[in-house]
Amino acid sequence: MSASPVTPRTKTQVAADLTEFISSSPSSYHATATAAARLEAAGFTRLDEREKWSLEAGQGCYVIRDGAIIAWRIPARSAVGSGAAPGFRVFGSHTDSPAFKLKPGEEFTSEGTRQIGVEIYGGPLLNSWLDRELALAGQLSLADGSVVLAQTPPIARIPQLAIHLDRQVNDGLTLDKQRHTTPIIGLAEIAEADVIEILAASAEVDPEQVIGHDVYTIPVQSPGLFGAQEEFFASPRLDNLLSVHAGVNALVDVDAQALDSIALFAGFDHEEIGSNSRSGACGPFLADVTERIIASAFPTSTRSDYLTALASSICVSSDAGHAAHPNYPERHDPHVRPRLGGGPLLKLNAQQRYATDAVGTAAWSQACTAAGVEYQNFVSNNAMPCGSTIGPLTATRLGMTTVDVGPALYSMHSAREMVAIDDVVALGAAAKAFLQG
Ligand code: ZN
Repeated sequence: MSASPVTPRTKTQVAADLTEFISSSPSSYHATATAAARLEAAGFTRLDEREKWSLEAGQGCYVIRDGAIIAWRIPARSAVGSGAAPGFRVFGSHTDSPAFKLKPGEEFTSEGTRQIGVEIYGGPLLNSWLDRELALAGQLSLADGSVVLAQTPPIARIPQLAIHLDRQVNDGLTLDKQRHTTPIIGLAEIAEADVIEILAASAEVDPEQVIGHDVYTIPVQSPGLFGAQEEFFASPRLDNLLSVHAGVNALVDVDAQALDSIALFAGFDHEEIGSNSRSGACGPFLADVTERIIASAFPTSTRSDYLTALASSICVSSDAGHAAHPNYPERHDPHVRPRLGGGPLLKLNAQQRYATDAVGTAAWSQACTAAGVEYQNFVSNNAMPCGSTIGPLTATRLGMTTVDVGPALYSMHSAREMVAIDDVVALGAAAKAFLQG
């Protein structure tokens, strides 16, 4: 049984929309651009952090800081200009995913092949990246100080050693993080363009002008539905572009006339490496933007009014979680068994690895009820410590009541993760109901 019965047509449409969103978001920098394009199409205005802001009731705006984006809609009936500022309803997520990042001193030859040096970004399931054609994508900085997005065709692969040369491999694959993860991008004797030239060509810029890069390996196989009833969706970067997709679409859809709080979507960068950056959830981005929204929309407001607004705010932190795996049933809590297709997760952890408390639970329950979707509890097996999310960081920085939720996946941090398409629909509906309030 599905939490939210989805017609085949809806399922196909949602899968196509998510495919388009993820495929055009190969890096966090691209993800902010993809989100921005959807927001622009819905009439949102881009603001510059280096300029003074002046905001109006009902207005939708967004701001990009590197690979992070924050967008919001002010209630149409806000008494903008007076000191009475509403609170925020924040839907938070992250734009980055595990991958390999291109090192400087990019290219070298070995055994007649051309290879590129890479570092491991976040915690990928290394084995899942073997034997896949990989593109490179990210941002390039140019000599004039400008930044461009780049995305190459499939040029790289990390080939696994043949079983004949490693007869014990099926008893346990061990990969050396330096030697065994180095991608091959060509044959040494036919090098016509180095990797920077290939990146520059994809961005249509002069390679001589490229000064710096933040570039990652990207699996190129297109996302898609599969399963006996096409109930599953496989894709790279479901963690956490699935939540970014839900949040952006939800914000675009909110009805400003019916809003009581400021509806806000946040997509932070660098969650997979700990969130300590100027565009990560430990940084000041959300605090900076929320304070400026209140000060710009309510010019007579005071710092105390801003803190009052925060005190009446609530944050949903949406990030991928785990469904109970049929092949590893012992890895999960023995009694709380979230399943694919059972609706979005409510994530609970006594150590506050997830920020959810009873108050946040009630808010999430209300949103799911309003959306007509069921949610499922997630707790870890006590012997299997869970990961964390931007939730506790946001709660710690801003003091908002925060609740951790998210879609249930299999294969989290694989180069190709999987989700139930019904859960994509349900998360989208719950996100919209939450932001609408
Ligand atoms: Zn995540």
